[in-house]
Amino acid sequence: MASEVRPTVGLIGLGIMGRPMARNLLRAGYPLVVHDVDRSAVDALVAEGATADTTPRGVAEATDVLITMLPDSPQVREVYLAPDGALEALRPGWLAIDMSSIAPSTARELATRAAAGGSEVLDAPVSGGDKGAIAGTLSIMVGGTEAGFDRALPILSAMGKTIVHVGPAGAGQVVKVCNQVVVAVVIEAVSEALLLGAKAGVNPARIADVLQGGLAATKVLELRRENMLTGHFDPGFRIRLHQKDLKNAMELGGETQVALPAAAVVEQLMRAAAAAGRADYDHSGLLTVLEDLAGFRVCDAATTAS
Ligand code: NAD
Repeated sequence: MASEVRPTVGLIGLGIMGRPMARNLLRAGYPLVVHDVDRSAVDALVAEGATADTTPRGVAEATDVLITMLPDSPQVREVYLAPDGALEALRPGWLAIDMSSIAPSTARELATRAAAGGSEVLDAPVSGGDKGAIAGTLSIMVGGTEAGFDRALPILSAMGKTIVHVGPAGAGQVVKVCNQVVVAVVIEAVSEALLLGAKAGVNPARIADVLQGGLAATKVLELRRENMLTGHFDPGFRIRLHQKDLKNAMELGGETQVALPAAAVVEQLMRAAAAAGRADYDHSGLLTVLEDLAGFRVCDAATTAS
């Protein structure tokens, strides 16, 4: 009977990803306590059945398992380590799962601090985007102990489909960084190809059709084809967040002495996109920087050629 009682879960960070994740936890029957610096995001979840607390410490005290879904390492550090932060409520048996994409070094630091208090902070970043968060089909890569993973699995199953324990503390963030390097470099490669072919006089829609039938096929073109052919770049995943992920990749490359030449070039191009006022474009909007260099717009060729 006791095994059927759902643990009380906390969720801090109710943005594009955290809000639908919170809804899926409520749907799965978890009592939920939420917090965000944006009061309207909190009110929306309270209207759907969650309760709220005004500090991370309060959420941590009221819950058995805390989930965080925040933009970057500084916000995660603030929520866990600042006065009234979650780790002030550290106690044996308590568990936290940070699902934000942050620097592996920060994830390892949090895990070490929690272990000193007889507890654990797992790192469990995700891929699958807002659509995956809404559908509850996220891919989740988990770093931490086997026991922590086993305890988190039923809760993570309410939000994701492919849930893999990839190694000890920090390993989830390492895998996420690897994922973001691939996505960044592929966006750049697809952009170059569409731009080259379109300026050479071929309808980019036909180029995309052919690429998707052969070895060049990629999920990036499948999911971002419309953006690139129409020149509309509403996010999705913002360029400013991908800049952060590439910064984390460069930091990890520095720690491990691994050269990341292609990722470094794309990081510079993303910086150029941000400098041009496009930091809140979807990351497929990287295409626009290459278009500026070529003096040509792919969307013009896609609309004039049939
Ligand atoms: P978001 O900016 O939409 O949401 C972040 C939320 O955190 C906001 O509601 C904000 O108010 C809140 N917040 C910020 N600082 C806070 C603080 N100190 N205390 C409490 N709340 C605070 O971001 P998102 O798109 O939901 O992304 C969250 C994380 O997930 C990021 O690390 C991102 O890289 C990662 N991610 C995003 C996507 C995507 O498609 N959007 C996909 C995979 C991974």
